[in-house]
Amino acid sequence: MSSHTNVVRVAVLGSTGSIGLSTLDVLERNRDRYRVFALAAHSSREQLREQCLRHAPAFAALADPEAAQRLADDLLAAGSPTRVLAGPEALAEIAAHPEVDAVMAAIVGAAGLPSSLAAARAGKRILLANKEALVMSGPLFMEAVRAGGATLIPVDSEHNAVFQCMPAPCIAGQRAAGVRRILLTASGGPFLRTPAAELADVTPEQACAHPRWVMGRKISVDSATLMNKGLELIEACLLFDLPPAQVEVVIHPQSIVHSFVEYLDGSMLAQLGNPDMRTPIAHALGWPERLASGVESLDVVGAGRLEFEAPDLERFPALQLARTAAEAAGTAPTVLNAANEIAVEAFLEGRLAFADIPAVIGNVLAQHRVGPAASLEDVLAADAWARRQARAELGARPGAWA
Ligand code: NAD
Ligand code: MG
Repeated sequence: MSSHTNVVRVAVLGSTGSIGLSTLDVLERNRDRYRVFALAAHSSREQLREQCLRHAPAFAALADPEAAQRLADDLLAAGSPTRVLAGPEALAEIAAHPEVDAVMAAIVGAAGLPSSLAAARAGKRILLANKEALVMSGPLFMEAVRAGGATLIPVDSEHNAVFQCMPAPCIAGQRAAGVRRILLTASGGPFLRTPAAELADVTPEQACAHPRWVMGRKISVDSATLMNKGLELIEACLLFDLPPAQVEVVIHPQSIVHSFVEYLDGSMLAQLGNPDMRTPIAHALGWPERLASGVESLDVVGAGRLEFEAPDLERFPALQLARTAAEAAGTAPTVLNAANEIAVEAFLEGRLAFADIPAVIGNVLAQHRVGPAASLEDVLAADAWARRQARAELGARPGAWA
């Protein structure tokens, strides 16, 4: 928080995405206390233009330089005071800007790493949705948070739930006393009841039609393979400093219980609520205070039965791959994440069958010699290696509908 004023200045990175839009909604409901200082996205210039005219941020950035130039022209013509920055470096610059108090890290994938790291090093309050950046850089990211004096608050609904169930003051990256295990809940995705034989032919549209949450396409596919829960397992180990054996996954199709923390005495605390990302976003923004989010009260009677079941690791091998990578540590999570990004992109473009997503990732992991992820160079080298390897795997397979 700024020392001069009570208004918190927020940079929303990934403002045109699903999390970005929910964040802007929460910020508008709390405009007496929050100001949109900067907005950033990849290339959706028309959407960003509308957002700039509505929120009048000091800065807007697009990673795509051509789109940024056109946005700058548009905003100039509209008499907007917003300054437009261009290129991937601009996003990190914004994240570390001295006038920014809080950074919503809501870019999807490894592309979010430089800006998330910049926010950590600059000691910002980081509202972390971009789980891929944390998973790929692991201890390095947590060390940057510590060294920079940043405050890291998870936005991922499960981790935000765990954070809320931890003893206060919960500091990300520090193990809380008395915790026996974390139980992450998973909706199970759109294919929870789909027989293995039918999984091979599912389309991107089916995979992106999530029963409980409306999300970006990449995380929707991750939810359908359960890789999302695998990434979240690694995310939980890092955020709460627990070994993988103390983080379990349970399928909960209703998505009402967002996760559990179990203590040594047998107590289990859970956070419940309607499945709406504005709840964890508002929590992360306001913590330790509470903000209005626009989310309706949970109708516990209407919600009916809450069910829990074990995940099926045979139909959803991605979860097991992630657990293996978590146990191997070092560069293994980096490789898992990178291979997954390539495989998901290929699936979304119709070049890979759904059931082959975990197969590609598994083959890449099997060929990887795990090394230390001690420096950013180590991380970027492992990431690049895994992307090359995954592309080679794709080349060796028939296309999904070829
Ligand atoms: P999305 O696809 O809807 O939005 C992604 C945003 O990132 C867009 O604004 C896009 O312009 C921007 N972006 C993409 N590539 C970029 C690049 N190279 N440079 C700069 N900006 C880029 O995704 P989403 O569903 O909002 O998810 C965002 C992140 O939040 C992901 O890491 C996801 O795992 C995480 N998350 C999302 C949800 C959810 O409910 N949507 C829940 C938990 C966690
Ligand atoms: Mg989640």
